[in-house]
Amino acid sequence: MSTPSKTSRPPRPPSARLEAGGGPGPLAVHPKVFRDELAAAAEWVAGYLGQITERPVARPIPSAHRQDLAAGVLPQEGQDLEALLDFVDRAIAPYPTGNGHPAFFAWINSPPSPAGVIAELLATAINATCGMGEHALMDLERGVVRELASLAGMAVTTGGVLTSGGSMANLLCLGAARTWFLRCHDATDGPAYDRTHARLTAYHSDQAHMSVAKAAAVIGLPPWRLRTVPTTSDQRMDVEALQAMVEADRARGLLPFCVVSNLGSTAGGAVDPIEAITRVCRSQGLWHHGDGAWGGLGALVPELAPLYQGVADLDSLTVDPHKTLSVPVGCGAALVTDPARLRDAFAFRASYLDGDQDWPWMSDYTIELTRPGTRALTLWATLRQLGRSGVTDLLQHYQDLARYLRGRVQQHPTMELCNEGPLPVVCFRLADGPGTGLPDTRADLHTAVAARVQARGHAYLATVCHNGETVLRACLCNYLTTTADVDTLLQEVQSAVDHLRTA
Ligand SMILES: *Cc1c(COP(=O)(O)O)cnc(C)c1O
Repeated sequence: MSTPSKTSRPPRPPSARLEAGGGPGPLAVHPKVFRDELAAAAEWVAGYLGQITERPVARPIPSAHRQDLAAGVLPQEGQDLEALLDFVDRAIAPYPTGNGHPAFFAWINSPPSPAGVIAELLATAINATCGMGEHALMDLERGVVRELASLAGMAVTTGGVLTSGGSMANLLCLGAARTWFLRCHDATDGPAYDRTHARLTAYHSDQAHMSVAKAAAVIGLPPWRLRTVPTTSDQRMDVEALQAMVEADRARGLLPFCVVSNLGSTAGGAVDPIEAITRVCRSQGLWHHGDGAWGGLGALVPELAPLYQGVADLDSLTVDPHKTLSVPVGCGAALVTDPARLRDAFAFRASYLDGDQDWPWMSDYTIELTRPGTRALTLWATLRQLGRSGVTDLLQHYQDLARYLRGRVQQHPTMELCNEGPLPVVCFRLADGPGTGLPDTRADLHTAVAARVQARGHAYLATVCHNGETVLRACLCNYLTTTADVDTLLQEVQSAVDHLRTA
């Protein structure tokens, strides 16, 4: 750490009150101090990310430290800027979830792209509020949204907004679907609204992400009006069942308005039959939303592309650049084929905000008003670092790693593969029988093995419920991961089993 202490802040008497024109406020720092601290932070960032493999993948937070962090007691006096980096280095960085490390396989959490890390800092300095007025970063957001839509294979008309993540994107798209449906039925107001809204019914599969249920709840759908469609043995939505459920609901006087399909289910990586679901939606007057938070860009990968036929006919799609693209966390996207439908749902006027009708403000397309420009710049920077072919290569890299892991599991004498993806998530179970000193049930064994692997710090994986059974699950979404890291994971699983047996 860099700067001489005590010089970083002009001395300030307790409870200083500014005289008129009496100088800068309490957040101002000397330009040299600011530059030195920024340089020190940049040095630290390069070291932290550069040496990530030399540290444990994850480390439990001591409970006293947890309590300290969560205590929430602000000292009366402010501190020097240099204390910030010291604090991060000592109190935060040693306790990651692990998602920067190439042997981290739990959940769909990727490390930040180098371009994204730099862009985040730059965008923070610019500090655009990408909700209202004019700002170059707001125009850049329109551009990167179109780039994402094009990568996903959506229609050229597609627009939308960047969001905090996939959950928020699902919420916006369900909100837009609801408003669209009410408009189609001339039911945006009064008794017609009450009658219609009370009968709205949506559909998702038993593999859908829980954020879909949250979104449905937030737009006012009771849980029993979000129907769960069963899946076939490959975890894809059973389209005949969907069709039958929609018809039965309609016959009962309900109003089916939206189907949410999975473009990459979270637990097992399945892609729903997009075209067949769209046919049901078109014949029944429903909105088809694709939840591609994780797998929304699969159309770019030749081996996945056939499953993504029909993406251009979706009404909306969620994509999470902070998952597969390694854009720093806090970047999702709601892509809507007819963006005016987002505006119909979310453009509200106020006298203190007078929007531009030719270039509608981004806040007209979402529920956020003051919005960060970091999303647009980090996504743009990451896409520029990759280029179109780099995006494909990155996604292919994850497919290749998953294929390698599946092969290793299949060759292993005491491991069994549970799913086939096709997205890069590998669910597997241990075939070691109970008894022999191991936990009594397979579920307990898998839970204990995951906990042991996590505690040792050489690799990290989690469990998931697959066909009603708790199994081990490894996601491939770190651009630094190599086949050697995959080997490490399996060695760690094996040594966890050995440890449990002898413990
Ligand atoms: C991760 C995920 C989400 C939620 O996205 P967040 O960015 O975590 O809010 C939604 N749907 C699917 C399929 C996901 O995998």
